[in-house]
Formats: sequence, structure tokens, C-alpha cells
Amino acid sequence: MKQSSGRRPEARRPRSPAAPPLFVTLTAFFAVSSLASGYLMLSGTGTTASTTSARGGAGLRHQPAPRATEKPERDGRTQVLGDGSTSYTGPQKDQLKPEPLKPGEKPPQFVVFSWDGALQGDDKLFSHYRKTAKAYHAHMTFFLTGIYLLPKAKRDLYAPPQHPRGSAAIDFPTDAHIRDTVEQLTGAWKDGHEIGTHFNGHFCGAKGGGDWSVEEWKSEINQFYDFVGHWKTNTGHTDLAPLPFDLTKEITGGRAPCLEGQANLLKAAKNYGWRYDASSPGDFQIWPTKKNGIWDFPLQMLPYEGGDYQGLSMDFNFLYSQSPESTKGDPAKYPRWQRASVDAYMAGFNRVYYGSRAPLFIGNHFEEWNGGIYMKAVDEVIKNACTKKDVRCVSFKELAAWLDVQKPATLERLRALDPAQSPDWSTTVR
Ligand SMILES: [Zn+2]
Repeated sequence: MKQSSGRRPEARRPRSPAAPPLFVTLTAFFAVSSLASGYLMLSGTGTTASTTSARGGAGLRHQPAPRATEKPERDGRTQVLGDGSTSYTGPQKDQLKPEPLKPGEKPPQFVVFSWDGALQGDDKLFSHYRKTAKAYHAHMTFFLTGIYLLPKAKRDLYAPPQHPRGSAAIDFPTDAHIRDTVEQLTGAWKDGHEIGTHFNGHFCGAKGGGDWSVEEWKSEINQFYDFVGHWKTNTGHTDLAPLPFDLTKEITGGRAPCLEGQANLLKAAKNYGWRYDASSPGDFQIWPTKKNGIWDFPLQMLPYEGGDYQGLSMDFNFLYSQSPESTKGDPAKYPRWQRASVDAYMAGFNRVYYGSRAPLFIGNHFEEWNGGIYMKAVDEVIKNACTKKDVRCVSFKELAAWLDVQKPATLERLRALDPAQSPDWSTTVR
């Protein structure tokens, strides 16, 4: 396969890439694909509910304090928090030890696999990816949707910005899904994975995250903490163990639905002590920088179909280019489409692995579009990439911690590299 250099056409560090044709239509497409894949659009449009009345609401019940204000004592026992939905069980184990690069050292190749939604549904994809991660010594980031721990019967607790109370653009979970998801979240955290947020109602387009004010984003975030922090009260499943982590410490970033609204989201995120945001609507494969004091981890432009153009490193980008009319395209084409997806991921991987070593970010949903070929593609990429020398498949949280201990001047030189550019490491890393 022809390797694209990924070289940026003009400025060395553009603010954002030229809008890729595939991405422009992503929002509209997501709404369509959601319907097609069995999601339910719940009175999301045509509402007359005022913005003001939608604010606050259920979120007021639990206003998380800024992080790290109190330090639970470490006495080796679990400290149950709040209504028993969460607990403090000590620092998370098996995390990447953040160490500064030594002079002349080639950086590790970081790869982050991230999952939007993180429901353990009938497809059992959450547990599948935990198993896969274990087999290849990978940590991943699971962006949990808050209402996936809110029973449908309690949907009126959710007051989404600019939408009627109790509404969402995705399905509320079944009782069994909530129990299964709690079990997977518990296991995932113990495995060393990160739990982040995909917020709540998955509203895109008009009146979605892109239209929300800073205050509306805060309301959405508060409600995420509320639903995840009170799943036991809301479900009545008092027989289950609490989640093994303190939400106010564990949640350090998220990805906005449809990658919409990052500007105001970043302003809101500061109040929660978040360290990164993965909502950027796309950038080149370059070393990350901070926006508003928070690490910006965008989805990336990968060479697609031999590098004639670049597509975003997310499943529905591939779906859109391959079968824009349906999530169930022509089965005869599945093998070729799966191959093209794997090739794009691996072309992006190889470009930086043999080049600048900029971290590779891959974002996906748990879905079964086109017979599950995009899941199979990621399976293959995990197997191919995470086993290579110097590769670290980590969570966004681990990467943020690693970046935080690097010398600013070194990061500055790394950021000046084009994706395929393999520099003299002795002068780049000093
Ligand atoms: Zn999503």
C-alpha cells in the first residue's frame, strides 16, 4: 500500500485540518445511522421547551465538588461513597508509570483505543474488548454514557439542555443492561482501563452539544455524575457491589457526542479538574497540545484507500464512505470494506511508528454495522499494533499523565514533526 506522508500542506501547525469531506456530513449521518441500527429518536425535535427550564434539574441533587478536595484515608478497606453506588478502593493498579524521556530516547509509540457509550448490551462488546485488551496487554478508554445507568422508568430525572425532560437521542438501557454494564465498568477499572464520559442524551445537530452554552454543558456534566453516582438509588439494585472508584477522581475527560461543542465544553470542563478532552472534530497525526490548559486528543486523519485522501479514525467515518445509505450494506462487499478499514488504521499506525511517533487515536462505538466488520477491523489492529516493539496501548488518562512529565521544549520539537518524519532523536529529545 502506498504510504502517504501525512504532510500538512501549508503551515507546519495548522489550527485545524482542511475540513475533510467525510466529516462534514458526520452529524447528519449519525442521526440516520442511529435510527437504522435500532436506536430510538425520542422527541428530540420540534420541542418548544425553553432553554432555561431545561437547565439544572436533576443535576442539582449531586453537585460534585472540584476534584481532590478531600483525601480519603488509605486503611486498606473500601470506603463506600454516597448511596453506595461508588467507592474508594485505593489508587488504580497497573497504570503506566509516567517518566520523562531520556536524552536521545525514541518515544514509545502510544496507541489509544477508545469506546463511545460503553454499554454492555446484547452484543457483549464491552466484555469482548476487555478480553481482547487483556490478551494484548492493552489499556483502553471507555467513555460511558450517563443514562446507560439510568432506568427508563426514571428517565424524567434527566433534564437535557434544550430538550424536553426525560428525552434522549438514544435508547435508555434495560434493567439487565444496567446490571451488566455495572459489572463491566467494575472489571474494566480493575483491569486498569479508564472510565471517561460520553455525557448523557447524545444530542447532535440543532440544539445538540454544538449549540450548548457553558452553563448547559455544566448541567449535562453534573447530570452525568448524578446518574453514575446514584445508579443504586435509581435502580434499587442494592445487592450489587459499588463501583470500585471515586467518580470525582476517576473521570478526567470525555468525548462529546458527534464531536460537537468542544469550545464551550472545554470552558465547562475546567470546573471538574479534567485533564484532557477527546472531542476535537479531527486533526492530523501530530503530537498533542493543550487547549485551555487541557490536553486536546483529537480523532486523526488517516490515509484511506491508498492515501488518496484522509479519513477520520472512527468507525462511522468508514461506514459513511463505504455504505452511506445504510448500516447494512451489500454483504458481498464486507470483506473488502473490512480490509480497507484495517489498511487505513495500519497505514496511520505505520506512518507514525516509523516516523514521528505521535500517538495514534482510534475512536469507535460498540456497533454491528455492516455485519460487524468495523469491530473485526479493530480486533485486527489491536493484534497487529499492540504487539509491536516499543508500542504502548494505553488509556487517554495514562497518556495525559505521561505528557505532563515531559520537558515542554521536547514536546515543542515533537509537535513540529510531520507524521511520517523520523527525526534525529538525539537532537529532538534532549
Ligand atoms: Zn457517540
